[in-house]
Amino acid sequence: MDLLLKNATYIDWKTLEFSLKNILVRENVSSLQFIADSGIGTVEQGVETMDCTGRLVTKSFAVGHHHVYSALSRGMAAPKENPQNFSEILKYVWWTLDKCLDPAMIESSALVTAMACLKAGSTFVIDHHASPFAVKGSLEIIAKAFEKVGVSHLLCYEISDRDGIHVAREGLSETDHFLSYHQGLVGLHASFTVGERTLGKAVDMMKKHNTGIHIHVAEDAYDQGQSINKHGRRVVERLEKAGVLSSPKTLLVHCLHLEENERELIRKSPIWVVQNCESNLNNNVGYFNGKGLGENIMLGTDGMHSDMLRSARAAFFVGQRHDNITYESAYRRFRNVHRYLSDNGFDGDGDNNLVILDYDSPTPVSRENFFGHFLFGITSNHITDVISNGRLVMKDKKITTVDENEILGESRLQAERLWSKMHQNS
Ligand SMILES: [Zn+2]
Repeated sequence: MDLLLKNATYIDWKTLEFSLKNILVRENVSSLQFIADSGIGTVEQGVETMDCTGRLVTKSFAVGHHHVYSALSRGMAAPKENPQNFSEILKYVWWTLDKCLDPAMIESSALVTAMACLKAGSTFVIDHHASPFAVKGSLEIIAKAFEKVGVSHLLCYEISDRDGIHVAREGLSETDHFLSYHQGLVGLHASFTVGERTLGKAVDMMKKHNTGIHIHVAEDAYDQGQSINKHGRRVVERLEKAGVLSSPKTLLVHCLHLEENERELIRKSPIWVVQNCESNLNNNVGYFNGKGLGENIMLGTDGMHSDMLRSARAAFFVGQRHDNITYESAYRRFRNVHRYLSDNGFDGDGDNNLVILDYDSPTPVSRENFFGHFLFGITSNHITDVISNGRLVMKDKKITTVDENEILGESRLQAERLWSKMHQNS
């Protein structure tokens, strides 16, 4: 059903212009229609009307890099051996976890991730998925779960040689199959787990489906060391030589340990960089610095959580010492994902994706001081309603598309199954 948002304080996310508006939102019609007060009477019939007096309405958010596969990790026991560095964190935690995932766990992970994204105002998610012993069909499970909840997506399977050539082949064929029916990317785990043959095949797949590569890059110095030892060049040089940097759809995630010539290769290419500050803090791998990388920088959560406002705030706080970030560039990085999606023609992030905020500020809010409210005031707790592709998918903080309690009840059972399987396997 079409929606009429009456008396909303609408913030244009590009110009930050504030205006009092009646907004007609249509399902699957990406543009918005603004209705004059005199025209409301004729529009109101047959639409759901919401009084937005005192509420802020603006474009909803999008997650530039997420991991559905880690959704059931919250609260799980620490690994038997305490990881001493980044590669041990992968080995003892994430690669133990993703090997245990089965279709039911993947479905629960995707459903709870989609719900958490909506609650935090994101209606679009770019995900990077791994489940080495349940590869086939995994992307379709995630796509269906996201669509059920009402979240648009750009998915990929993180292809890797780390579990042998057979699993790498399965990743390639899952990607090929999924991209025949859906928009998406070709996922690679990281340079240090992808050999020359698999890298070449992934780039061929990228060209075949006219898409981009989605890969972790220089998250830890280990990635660079392995690349120099095995391939005689640094990670970004290696990826450039393989053709990864030729597509404007390509996403290089993290990009912490880069030398000047790698920054230049990125700056001169059409690709995008995704920053995930809290994950870098958690893994103790270093700090992001956008210097010399150009303007194509956006933000993700790296599976830590689903709250992009939180990611933006962390990027600003940490970036004050380690980056060239400002109030304005923090906001720009937060919103750049929309430019990435629209410039590349991906569906699902049109103007009919909105958040409604009950932001009862103790100080005036305007275009002039919006960045201050964005970084220090507005949180996901202020989001009351979310509209995804013109559909009201969250109303008064309750998701309308699915039964939240049922999904959370099921995911707790799946988490217990996963944890006991991990315990047996470790
Ligand atoms: Zn990641």
